[in-house]
Amino acid sequence: MLFKRIIRGGIDLSQHKEPALSRDIIMLDGIEFKDFDLSEYRDIDTETIYKMIELSKIRDEHTGEFLIDIINRALLKETDRLLLNAVDDDPYTSASYSAMKNLPKYAVLGLNLVGKLLKPKKRRCVINPTLDDEGINSKIPEKIFGLQVKKVNLSYPISPRLDRYYDGQVVSIGACALVNLAKMVVDGDMTKICFVTVAGDAVGYSCNVACKVGTPIKEILNETSPEKYQKLILGSVMSGRAIETTDVGVEETTKSVILLKKYSVRTDLNCIGCSRCVSACPQRLSPYYIYKASKRGHEDKALMQLAKLCTDCGCCSYVCPGKCNPAHYIRLYKRRALLNEKEGGELLETDTNRV
Ligand code: SF4
Ligand code: SF4
Repeated sequence: MLFKRIIRGGIDLSQHKEPALSRDIIMLDGIEFKDFDLSEYRDIDTETIYKMIELSKIRDEHTGEFLIDIINRALLKETDRLLLNAVDDDPYTSASYSAMKNLPKYAVLGLNLVGKLLKPKKRRCVINPTLDDEGINSKIPEKIFGLQVKKVNLSYPISPRLDRYYDGQVVSIGACALVNLAKMVVDGDMTKICFVTVAGDAVGYSCNVACKVGTPIKEILNETSPEKYQKLILGSVMSGRAIETTDVGVEETTKSVILLKKYSVRTDLNCIGCSRCVSACPQRLSPYYIYKASKRGHEDKALMQLAKLCTDCGCCSYVCPGKCNPAHYIRLYKRRALLNEKEGGELLETDTNRV
């Protein structure tokens, strides 16, 4: 088990998804989803689908990447598997699963439309393996409109490693992005919708909400009976950012808004060299090396290249017994590396003795 974990990296997280996971989505801004027959859209031609995806500027909720860029990259190769990605591996968040579960016909239509372009050998819907750890009230479906729903046996973070999990060329697209695409085709309207989980111990009514892009958080919170909170996190607790105001509007990639009564992060204690961060890192980096270089302001050319491979998942900070928060320092280092590249600045040569 330990060997498997070291090879795969990643960590197991407590999920805290209920009761939002089992509740129906609350529709804001007069958003409606109508019933339709999937066969009505069987004959839609590939040129129209491609144009629609290009014009819509829909982004994948997991990666933030534009759907058109994912499609263009995939068109260069043969696609073995096309995945409807309903993986919500962050604690509290259930936006993608909820979009797939509550709007299965839209999710499958979205996948069918993309499938017409990519012609994959296989299609699947993938979900988080620990989704029902808390005893989910509504059963996880085995299939949605003929599409098999499969638990992916990986630890957090799952989405960036789906291609390693399956052999061959894998294209994965978020459930929310696919629902958006289908809705645009069904309604003939380019309005983009965000699916957001509102949860945390300071939320009275945890739930998933569908709203228009740009809807201020305060309007979403009106639906959820918030209590007094100390920390408001936009995005996930692992990789989101703390914000001070509820005037900020949500984006397609805002999968959750978390309100916590108490939150404290201690940083800057001593690294004890335990190497837990190494075992946890899904990118197979040595976080403590990069963290130390970053903290000392030491611009090491090789380590800066490695920092660019960091996906910001936060696993290293989560497992660190010294509360060093390596993910934070690595994020700073990565930014520094990208800035140096942009400015064309020469970095100092490696001096590993100082790291
Ligand atoms: S935040 Fe970066 S360095 Fe830390 S575990 Fe994730 S990928 Fe590795
Ligand atoms: S987990 Fe923390 S204490 Fe352990 S080696 Fe990594 S940074 Fe150091």
